[in-house]
Amino acid sequence: MTQPPAPAPSTPLSGPQKALHKLGLLRPIDLALHLPLRYEDETRIVKLRNVRDGELAQIEGVVTSCEVRAHGHRQLLVTLDDGSETCLLRFFSFYPSQQKALAVGQRIRARGEIKGGFGGLQMMHPSFKAATGALPTALTPVYPTVAALPQAYLRRAVLGGLERADLAETVPSDSLPANNLALAWSLRQALSFLHLPRPDVALVALQDPAHPAWQRLKFEELLAQQLSQLQAKRERARLRAPVLRVLRQPPSVGLPLHEQLLAALPFQLTAAQRRVSEEIMRDLARPVPMHRLLQGDVGSGKTVVAALAAAICMDAGHQCALMAPTEILAEQHFRKLIGWLEPLGVKTAWLTGSQKTKERRAALAQIASGEAKLVVGTHAVIQDKVVFKNLALAIIDEQHRFGVAQRLALRDKLIATGQEPHLLMMTATPIPRTLAMSYYADLDVSTIDELPPGRTPIVTKVVSEARRDEVIARISVQLAQGRQVYWVCPLIEESEVLDLRNATETHAQLSQALQGAGVGAAALQIGLLHSRMPVAEKKAVMALFTSGAMGVLVSTTVIEVGVDVPNASLMVIEHAERFGLSQLHQLRGRVGRGASASACVLLYSTGEAPRLGETARERLKAMVETGDGFEIARRDLEIRGPGEFLGARQSGAALLRFADLASDTVLLDRARQLAPLMLDQHPELAAQHIARWLGSKAQYLKA
Ligand code: ADP
Ligand code: MG
Repeated sequence: MTQPPAPAPSTPLSGPQKALHKLGLLRPIDLALHLPLRYEDETRIVKLRNVRDGELAQIEGVVTSCEVRAHGHRQLLVTLDDGSETCLLRFFSFYPSQQKALAVGQRIRARGEIKGGFGGLQMMHPSFKAATGALPTALTPVYPTVAALPQAYLRRAVLGGLERADLAETVPSDSLPANNLALAWSLRQALSFLHLPRPDVALVALQDPAHPAWQRLKFEELLAQQLSQLQAKRERARLRAPVLRVLRQPPSVGLPLHEQLLAALPFQLTAAQRRVSEEIMRDLARPVPMHRLLQGDVGSGKTVVAALAAAICMDAGHQCALMAPTEILAEQHFRKLIGWLEPLGVKTAWLTGSQKTKERRAALAQIASGEAKLVVGTHAVIQDKVVFKNLALAIIDEQHRFGVAQRLALRDKLIATGQEPHLLMMTATPIPRTLAMSYYADLDVSTIDELPPGRTPIVTKVVSEARRDEVIARISVQLAQGRQVYWVCPLIEESEVLDLRNATETHAQLSQALQGAGVGAAALQIGLLHSRMPVAEKKAVMALFTSGAMGVLVSTTVIEVGVDVPNASLMVIEHAERFGLSQLHQLRGRVGRGASASACVLLYSTGEAPRLGETARERLKAMVETGDGFEIARRDLEIRGPGEFLGARQSGAALLRFADLASDTVLLDRARQLAPLMLDQHPELAAQHIARWLGSKAQYLKA
């Protein structure tokens, strides 16, 4: 391993130094790997007489006037004369030092977009500097930065880093064919090429992702990621976990719990459910902690698979914990699991943040004594006070919705039990293949790729807000047939800027409209559920809707995951254009859970704009065209790119900076092949490579 970043010096850091730290640019290598965002052409001066409107140009001239206009918006107005024409430079914010640099008589170079017009030529907020010295001969790199970190300072720091960084080759020379483009250039060559462009290098070369310099960097980055994932996986494989295996028991003892559960279920498992259950069982029977993600579309039946895993764990005499990201979700699991397991004699404890002290104490005691074999709850399950007797399996629903800190806390908690328990994570947002091979390479993945039989596909319609009344009329029809309806509104933010019809208003409107329509009294109850309600109230509303007493549930996205009411057959999503694609798909999955035909109406509003934006249109189109969660995830990735896709999943993790999973699959494959060889045959080089690229971020990557 290379040296960890030097401890903060005792002298206070300057503003720019602090900014460098904030950007994670601590070590010389971090600076060297901080690559230009783009390049500016400062090699040429354009005469004002020859500029075109909208052109990005560098001009040079003498300041002939410089004044601060105080009325209206305060601004600094500077006139520059280059002998052919004058140009007005406008600054809306400026420091006294800048004002001084722009004093009358100064000769400066300004760079920005030219605006023509009746008032003459103008530049808004151009970058400028004193016109001294010769023009640069090569393109000037521009680095991603923040306000407190001036380009010139950052550029010096980066070039300093480039000089000092250890750029020794880490990719073993014998590991890839010599004619490999990705390795045609060394790391040092690639970095010099991009940080210090030579005069004869054109912009297209610098920005060409297929250029050997970029190929080398992308490959290095992907390799670092593969190495760290594989290393994490191998580290985990060295840990010990309890072996959870069901032994054949003599008939006098009776059937093991999981067999009893299977026999008691009101349905047969699908082939996919059986397959993933077997995958999980195989993992549990090994003395190595399971680290498995169970993915399956909404409604594919993950809960029963989790229950079977829990039963196997309890059969082996150990405790199992199940955690969900919200109290409503956790409670749903709790009800479902006790419905299945309590008749079979399993004692289940319930833990959340909102419960009464007395109740909580009782639960904690049962968990500590081992009387409660199954523990269900929110992240309260991993809090300090909770002491398990013999936890052996932790199941986490919608794992990506827990924060990084919570996931790290979970790890610590699990490890504190002495033996590392098995971990089963569940998600309804399938991970596209390329991501599964990269970010989640240290996870084993089980996929339920089949819905239980008897489901009718959901018909999805995109409807303009202008036809709201028709949609409301449709609700009455559903209610008259004894069906139930979800109406989802975007989150209440009380922001006047975002013209969102909030859930409260919609609730009032629907109540009135449906009352007028004279639908039967039993179906009339219209409930409201939003994120700001106290938990007890939320629960009461959910209970009414689940029981069927409530016909319509108006809600913000709190129903996003996990709610299971098979009688609900219509979902209306208001302002559908504001939701992400995966989120829309999750929401839609709340209907179509029974045998009756279900529909999803995506109400959109264009507001002031004449038409929907491009990406919003693509999202809604995708929703109409497919009901397949994998296809949705693939398109979501396409529309948003992996950065955003992952953003929702794991904030804090280092994203790929240079490689693009969609287009760099060849490099990704190479990196995947090389990683195990490198860990086996060149462990020091591998460690060096990981440290170089991931440095202090390694901790996050484990979460
Ligand atoms: P999700 O994967 O979205 O968590 P659930 O576990 O909530 O899905 O299951 C959705 C519904 O399907 C539940 O009502 C569940 O009881 C039911 N279900 C699960 N498996 C089957 C099956 N094999 N046959 C019929 N119904 C099933
Ligand atoms: Mg679920």
